[in-house]
Amino acid sequence: MATLDSKIPKGPLKDKWTTYKDKIDLVNPANKRNIDVIVVGTGLAGGSAAATLAELGYNVKAFAYQDSPRRAHSIAAQGGINAAKNYQGDGDSFYRLFYDTVKGGDYRSREANVYRLAEVSANIIDQCVAQGVPFARDYGGLLDNRSFGGVLVSRTFYAKGQTGQQLLLGAYSAMNRQIARGKIEMFNRHEMLDVVLVDGKARGIIARDLITGEIERHSAHAVVIASGGYGNVYFLSTNAMGSNATAAWKIHKKGAYFANPCYTQIHPTCIPRSGDYQSKLTLMSESLRNDGRIWVPAKLEDAKAIQQGTLKPTQIAEEDRDYYLERRYPAFGNLVPRDVASRAAKERCDAGYGVNGTGEAVYLDFAAAFERYGNEQAKIHGIKNSSKAEIIKLGQAIIEEKYGNLFQMYEKIIAENPYETPMMIYPATHYTMGGVWVDYNLMTTVNGLYCIGEANFSDHGANRLGASALMQGLADGYFVLPYTIGDYLSDDIRTGKISTASKEFEEAEKEVKDRINFFVNNNGTKSVDHFHKRLGKVMWDKVGMSRNEKDLNEAMAEIKAIREEFWKEVMVPGTANEMNPELEKAGRVADFLELGELFAKDALVRNESCGGHFREESVELDGLQKGEAKRNDKDYAFVSAWEYKGEPADAVLHKEELEFNDIELKQRSYK
Ligand SMILES: Cc1cc2nc3c(=O)[nH]c(=O)nc-3n(C[C@H](O)[C@H](O)[C@H](O)COP(=O)(O)OP(=O)(O)OC[C@H]3O[C@@H](n4cnc5c(N)ncnc54)[C@H](O)[C@@H]3O)c2cc1C
Repeated sequence: MATLDSKIPKGPLKDKWTTYKDKIDLVNPANKRNIDVIVVGTGLAGGSAAATLAELGYNVKAFAYQDSPRRAHSIAAQGGINAAKNYQGDGDSFYRLFYDTVKGGDYRSREANVYRLAEVSANIIDQCVAQGVPFARDYGGLLDNRSFGGVLVSRTFYAKGQTGQQLLLGAYSAMNRQIARGKIEMFNRHEMLDVVLVDGKARGIIARDLITGEIERHSAHAVVIASGGYGNVYFLSTNAMGSNATAAWKIHKKGAYFANPCYTQIHPTCIPRSGDYQSKLTLMSESLRNDGRIWVPAKLEDAKAIQQGTLKPTQIAEEDRDYYLERRYPAFGNLVPRDVASRAAKERCDAGYGVNGTGEAVYLDFAAAFERYGNEQAKIHGIKNSSKAEIIKLGQAIIEEKYGNLFQMYEKIIAENPYETPMMIYPATHYTMGGVWVDYNLMTTVNGLYCIGEANFSDHGANRLGASALMQGLADGYFVLPYTIGDYLSDDIRTGKISTASKEFEEAEKEVKDRINFFVNNNGTKSVDHFHKRLGKVMWDKVGMSRNEKDLNEAMAEIKAIREEFWKEVMVPGTANEMNPELEKAGRVADFLELGELFAKDALVRNESCGGHFREESVELDGLQKGEAKRNDKDYAFVSAWEYKGEPADAVLHKEELEFNDIELKQRSYK
């Protein structure tokens, strides 16, 4: 059994990372040339890690299932990336970013990791600006910032609504330089299907060439998994359709503990689903909550009329609107954290006040912002006696400048002009805070096997604040892993090339081939999507925004039954030796069907409400916080790290107790 040692360095919080870096072992430049590192995934986390490791001199083999690193799911990130630069002079500091993140995560993350994240956040911005990432700038040419949920400062750097895309182009350019130098060997259209352990150390992977179907062996001295999150276990999510858990799940089965699988983020501002045949949900960036106000009708009869299509939102008078976030959380208003905003939307919709034909939507309204910005513009330009229509036009131009592409995307999907009628939004699965357990070095419970970015259990505790995933992925890839991995690899300078002609590689390859052959020969009657949709429905209905013991027990049994049926009835057309997207999906859904059950088990064991995990049995019953989530620090201030034992129901729980020395555990209030 692996041990659970978080390896947090001793000493004061503020000095831990610096002192640690000063003392860890290094690999000299000549020796780095003899060391190979595999990086699975070239999104922001893997791309930045691959580029940096290659720049340092290691030989990197990088893998991605897309046709280019540029197409990783990271490209979808819209709103921005946090950094404690205090450019606004509004009191920001490393400590505040650290504090907001630990509080935002409902006190379920590791202090030392989060403080390090806050410290390196500033370097990320400098690095990306040096790469040419076109962050938004203010009138004077300085980098601009906006605000995201759960904080009282403006620390989010952004590039319109395309921050992920621009950051990824930066990381990709850095990778390309190394590809050209021969320091990165890039394997596009390759899917890692297993990790290979030799003498208890990660020494390679088995990958499938997705074009030819060929199964390949690749060796290295260390393996880094940067394969993204597992939100698609819900079938419908804001993630890219291809995002999956296979790499993370395969390493779990080989000994890497899986942490906090039940911590999932349901994002409050997504385009509501339209029907049963939908295969994807679309995020409307949280940045919109800087200027948009969220409301539902205050009167039930108005909500009903809207649902029936006989009333329009613009016909509802100001006094008949319920700006429920501003009402319930006056201090943070529309910028409460995502978990709080999502639950509040669900509460209003469950009570019958939802809009849209389905009753599952709330409004995000920019009318007040149009007027506010319009008046400001009129003053700036010395325009006097303008009509209300002129003022609104001026304001709309500012909103267009800030969020134009998001408004355009909304109009294309919903066929309504959001400049004229409020947007409709509803919560949707978006991000997974849980993932592979890693220590302070970002190493899993398997020696030489690292995990970074959204794939690890990360620094976000039970809830991630907006704009902090990009920060964490790039912190891991550019500034943390490249140091910590050296400490491990310093023992490998005399090892020489790792051979792939060993029984360990042979066995792993056989397992992969057997599974593929099973799928293409199964002759079942139901498509892979059939099972994925059924899994997603159980997850959303019983392991979604609110959870209880009865539902969770049922979910575990139902997921197991779906899994058993899947192995009997799944139909995969085509052959193994060709490009076969259904075959790829079959493997990924098989893994989701195991992960989903562990997810429900984890949620069952955690009988407290914290962050995105809301247990109906754990709610404040009176006082100012009545109806809000109730955390239980006495019994649950730990990270759940699950050890694989065959069936997900048999997984064994290991607890990493969380210590809080620099932050006081408080009830999380945004009132
Ligand atoms: C719509 C949307 C908007 C978002 N906006 C923001 C935002 O504004 N700010 C913010 O901070 N965060 C945002 N996020 C979250 C953030 O984008 C992600 O958490 C982050 O980009 C994940 O990066 P990653 O590198 O860990 O994984 P990914 O970008 O998902 O990359 C995964 C990589 O792994 C590869 N891969 C996976 N499995 C395998 C395998 N088995 N074999 C080979 N390769 C594999 C893929 O090919 C890919 O290269 C947003 C998320 C969504 C869904």
